[in-house]
Amino acid sequence: VRSDDRTGDQDGSRGAVIEKSIEAHPAQSFGDDPLEVRESDHYTDEYTDGFVDKWDELIDWKKRYESEGSFFVDLLKSHGVESVLDVATGTGFHSVRLIEAGFDTVSVDGSAEMLSKAFENGQSYGGHILRVVHADWRWLTQDVQGQFDAVICLGNSFTHLFSERDRRKALAEFYSVLKPNGILIIDHRNYDSILDNGFSSKHTYYYCGESVSAEPEYVDEGLARFRYRFPDKSQYHLNMYPLRQDYVRRLLREVGFQQVDSYGDFQENFADDEPDFLVHIAEKA
Ligand code: SAM
Repeated sequence: VRSDDRTGDQDGSRGAVIEKSIEAHPAQSFGDDPLEVRESDHYTDEYTDGFVDKWDELIDWKKRYESEGSFFVDLLKSHGVESVLDVATGTGFHSVRLIEAGFDTVSVDGSAEMLSKAFENGQSYGGHILRVVHADWRWLTQDVQGQFDAVICLGNSFTHLFSERDRRKALAEFYSVLKPNGILIIDHRNYDSILDNGFSSKHTYYYCGESVSAEPEYVDEGLARFRYRFPDKSQYHLNMYPLRQDYVRRLLREVGFQQVDSYGDFQENFADDEPDFLVHIAEKA
């Protein structure tokens, strides 16, 4: 609603209210057939302010800290990492965590809404001024200068890319912003298990007790559509590409990473269909 589209009140006050309410809660839009939305560019429309705010309000950062422990901090330290590029900053959870642990961190995201929320969160959680860069992974080096000891792409983010071309392009960009001995840490849900064993109530993931749930509403080899439900009965969706773990490992090697180690729910030894999340650590040299 532009200001010159106002109807009603002479002083324009109603128009201003309409404008504010629409901007404050833009709806997610998946068009007539949500199952056909399989595009790498769609993520910016999926992370609406409403979804982002609700997510951050209900997913307690403290609890997330506790459940993740010091896994990533220890891993980065064991590789001698000092500088980190967080390419999927989201609302800033890992960026803030790493700044607090002493890493020189730069925070990237392709969604301006996410970055502004991350910046706010940086200030509220410890008064940190995040160094943010608005960039899409596929053209990362157009906006990010310099090289880093580590690139992290966490929180089931890489799954937003729908074509192999985009995945290769993004991984090649991650590779090129790494120093010669740098590492890439990338995670994703255990889609093998969801695709092969079917999804059932077993595959409802709860965050913070039982208050927020995520469940795969539809899955095929090219799409995993997840529904997120909140206590006030509101629901949001994300359309993602179901990454199989062997495929991700192969791609990492094909773009040039020399060694790839994988963890299941932060454990080195795991049965393939057990963990909810896989974490891959890819070494450049
Ligand atoms: N890492 C955060 C966390 O764990 O809370 C955020 C995860 S969120 C599921 C995925 C993030 O990846 C979103 O902030 C989204 O904007 C970003 N993203 C998805 N595709 C992207 C792309 N092609 N380029 C840059 N950012 C992208």
